[in-house]
Amino acid sequence: MVVVMRSGCSSSDVDEVVGVVEEAGGNAFVSRGVARTIIGVVGDDDVMATLNLTAVPSVAEVIRVTQPYKLVSREHHPDRSTVVVGTGELAVSIGPDTFALVAGPCAVETPEQTLEAARMAQRAGARLLRGGAYKPRTSPYAFQGLGEKGLRILSEVRAEVGMAVVTEVVDAHDVDLVAEHADMLQIGTRNMSNFALLQAVGSAGKPVLLKRGLTATYEEWLMAAEYVAQRGNLDIVLCERGIRTFETATRNTLDISAVPMVHSLSHLPVMVDPSHSAGRRDLVVPLSRASIAAGADGLLVDVHPHPETALCDGPQALREEELAELADVCRVFTAAVGRIG
Ligand code: PEP
Ligand code: MN
Repeated sequence: MVVVMRSGCSSSDVDEVVGVVEEAGGNAFVSRGVARTIIGVVGDDDVMATLNLTAVPSVAEVIRVTQPYKLVSREHHPDRSTVVVGTGELAVSIGPDTFALVAGPCAVETPEQTLEAARMAQRAGARLLRGGAYKPRTSPYAFQGLGEKGLRILSEVRAEVGMAVVTEVVDAHDVDLVAEHADMLQIGTRNMSNFALLQAVGSAGKPVLLKRGLTATYEEWLMAAEYVAQRGNLDIVLCERGIRTFETATRNTLDISAVPMVHSLSHLPVMVDPSHSAGRRDLVVPLSRASIAAGADGLLVDVHPHPETALCDGPQALREEELAELADVCRVFTAAVGRIG
């Protein structure tokens, strides 16, 4: 059972709930977030159900759902959620009625490359720019990203082109710094189970793009989202990016079932990253068609002005010509499924 406290509740309000739970033989785990305080209650379900915690004035909601993930479950929240990224003129909605194309370079390399990639993305209809300043690379000898310098480049390009920015954070110590520059914080596949990092982004006050772990089940992925939500941040967008299978022809295998399955399990938006799924640019457009048809709420796509010199993931980066094709697909397919692009 999960107890969501009213915003602005005092510590004595929280103590009151904890006291009631403990007196009945249960255990209470308090998580104080920026926006909400959430209390996880563990104990005999039948006894806990008799506590009538909804009658306590400082309690906003008591959630009893059968799934292990509670706050992100569709059972708890039957309507699908929309997450707004960025503010004012840069605001982009990701949810059931819209379609969000997010595009940009895999890694921020130089101001010129980032700006060119952003303009390419914009021409294709993207209103959100992606780009990694911190790169979690398989090899310690590979380009690791420009770090803080990359964040500054993203901020400058953001102001220049007028696009909200999503970028990855790989270390809990960098969360505040990345949140100063980014409109949305990305958790990459390799960090989906880094629970300290999930808690830190949950407290950062910015929307989170949570990629599916390389070998994560839907339940494990949603439990990772629950770590973020438990910190009071429900502005979470899930991103399917391909999983590990026996097939070696593609970098990963896009699990297209993830889109309708996770929509049925959770109210959170689900996007697809066809670039990291396939690892090759010739498959990005066909996989994008499939993703939109399956109900994806958006796409996350790598683009690069000169993929042959890219410091990271060049073979999957779209060039101007493929990007024009992707833009066409987005227009035609999103109209066919009744979404506003
Ligand atoms: C990325 O989007 O830049 C990235 C590293 O993706 P993933 O974590 O899915 O490999
Ligand atoms: Mn990449």
